[in-house]
Amino acid sequence: MQQTASYELTIIVPVYNEEDNLDRVEERLGAFLPHSEARACVLLVNDGSSDHSLEKIRAICQRNSDFYYLSLTHNSGLSTAMKAGFDAAQSEWVGYIDSDLQTDPEDFNLLLPFRREYALVTGIRAQRKDTGFKRVQSKIANGFRRMMTGDKATDTGCPLKVLQTSVAKRIPFFDGMHRFLPALVALEDGQMKELPVRHYPRVAGVSKYHLWNRLVGPFKDCFAYRWMKNRYIKYQIAEASEA
Ligand code: UDP
Ligand code: MG
Repeated sequence: MQQTASYELTIIVPVYNEEDNLDRVEERLGAFLPHSEARACVLLVNDGSSDHSLEKIRAICQRNSDFYYLSLTHNSGLSTAMKAGFDAAQSEWVGYIDSDLQTDPEDFNLLLPFRREYALVTGIRAQRKDTGFKRVQSKIANGFRRMMTGDKATDTGCPLKVLQTSVAKRIPFFDGMHRFLPALVALEDGQMKELPVRHYPRVAGVSKYHLWNRLVGPFKDCFAYRWMKNRYIKYQIAEASEA
């Protein structure tokens, strides 16, 4: 996505059957862009929606000069949508926010001051507005993942993040990796900064994740991560012939 090269930040917004949230996405992100700490554009990634999301996305991108989109042939999951966005982005930084806007685009300005110093700047949902059941699932998953990966992350799932694009493009990706970003960034020796951000209940559309894919998949992924960490290729060149 060559157009994103003229911005400092590309905000990636994964969209899967979110037709009832897209008006708010246009309005809230559109209101944020003019006073973003880093000159920013929005990249809507349609993850094979079967509702009217794609038509809405096309219309939004026609109306707004700083909105771009790409659309995947079929539904592939949040990690894939995120990777498609990271791959396409040409700006120095990439941001990530969910299209249900359970976090506030305005809070990107809390994260952005740290973008030069840290490879990953992530929100922590300070007062989480999800159901008690979902919070318990999240607590268990977070505890187990921290133990297995050694990451220090309080809340890996928080849908408000800023990454240095060079790091985002280098880290290994797998289906489910969106929950492992701090651990994956650590493989590349990237530093992480966490900051409390606002969190809201989902007001439209439905959650795509449930007990099985929130807990069981990530449980298995912890073992994959440990294997990868042990085998991860790292080297420093001591000497080379002059170019
Ligand atoms: N999403 C996606 N592909 C999927 C499932 C979800 O792009 O297969 C997007 C979804 O549209 C939303 C984000 O990922 O923007 C997070 O999904 P959701 O809000 O359902 O997750 P939760 O907040 O319940 O964990
Ligand atoms: Mg959500």
